[in-house]
Amino acid sequence: MEYISERIQALAPSATLAMSQKSSELKARGVDVINLSVGEPDFHTPDHIKEAAKRAIDDNFSFYTPVPGYLSLREAIVEKLERENGLHFEASQVVVGNGAKHELCNVVMTLVNPGDEVVIPMPAWVSYVQMVILAGGKPVTVPVGMEQGFKVTAAQLEAAITPRTRLVMLCSPSNPTGAVYSRGELAELAAVLERHPQVMVLSDEIYEHINYVGRHESIGQFEAIADRVVVINGVSKAYAMTGWRIGYMAGPQWLAKAVTKLQGQYTSGVSSIAQKAAEAALRGTQAPVEQMREAFERRRDLVTGLLQEQVPQMQVSLPDGAFYVFPRVTDLLGMKAPDGSVIATDSDLAMYLLREAHVATVAGEAFGAPGYLRLSYATSDDNLREAVGRIAAAVNLLR
Ligand code: PMP
Ligand code: GLU
Repeated sequence: MEYISERIQALAPSATLAMSQKSSELKARGVDVINLSVGEPDFHTPDHIKEAAKRAIDDNFSFYTPVPGYLSLREAIVEKLERENGLHFEASQVVVGNGAKHELCNVVMTLVNPGDEVVIPMPAWVSYVQMVILAGGKPVTVPVGMEQGFKVTAAQLEAAITPRTRLVMLCSPSNPTGAVYSRGELAELAAVLERHPQVMVLSDEIYEHINYVGRHESIGQFEAIADRVVVINGVSKAYAMTGWRIGYMAGPQWLAKAVTKLQGQYTSGVSSIAQKAAEAALRGTQAPVEQMREAFERRRDLVTGLLQEQVPQMQVSLPDGAFYVFPRVTDLLGMKAPDGSVIATDSDLAMYLLREAHVATVAGEAFGAPGYLRLSYATSDDNLREAVGRIAAAVNLLR
């Protein structure tokens, strides 16, 4: 007998991971697929980080780790937050988890009671809404389209907050849109939040270093709300370490303690070897981070230029950070593919592009933004040229 709890039945599968899986399956069958679906750097982890992991194995870091992470790693995180972000935390306010995803989910599970409202500007990364649903909370989505730079305004935030609001989830630089909030924009949001002392803020800064407009700004910098901000970050994107699975939360001590309790029953401390590697990443040379950022910037310019030139049916704006473009594709909806099928939605378009062009993308719907498509440009220039050429050819077949 098959039996799945209602909690898990209510959960949608991750569309980013599902599309990537589909693309891998096609590849395994010999189809030449270009995967622009999953967002992860295509670079290898820098050598000095790999060396630290090898040393950790030889030095017998093979025992259970402290539930919130090695103290030395949490101290490296505290120093990083001070040095790069001007944020003041103690090691006891930091919890290391199995990726930023794990800590995001832990924080949501720890803060949200059934029925609590969580404000999420949409488009948002696929997992935010699902994490809130898992906690029994009520996602309150705020549409922020291309016309407003995909950023929530102070007035929209004010209108979305009610006495039941427990949490606001922000992401800058943003997945899936690449939008980056300026200091001034964050100050306006902070001013709204100052008036609502029951609201906590989850600030997902995992793309911090993939920024093309200059300094990264954290909403944690505003004194009036600083004790209610939980910063989420990790090593996956900045150091090309997605598979090592190290992310963290930094927030109020009472929250870190409660998250540690959850982790103590649920997962324990994370991999010893990966923690040693993450510490080397944070303490070592930052030169590879800048090299990768430059490569992403070049690819951003390349892919937006190619799309504007070859696929004018999609409207693309220049993203300020992360490694995604998020074109509006509404002009293509309602058109017919050569096999007679109608492209009614952005999901139909993503499936059509996979079928016809062998290019994997993710539908905007997965991010709560129908009418858009997400393409990750964390891949080679050659792949990007080939992919846009194929998309253009497939789009030109639509009538
Ligand atoms: N937040 C956002 C916005 C992301 O795009 C990702 C990437 N999957 C994560 C968090 C999680 O990153 P990780 O678990 O690999 O640290
Ligand atoms: N953040 C990446 C993405 O959005 C990784 C996949 C995932 O965990 O969702 O594609």
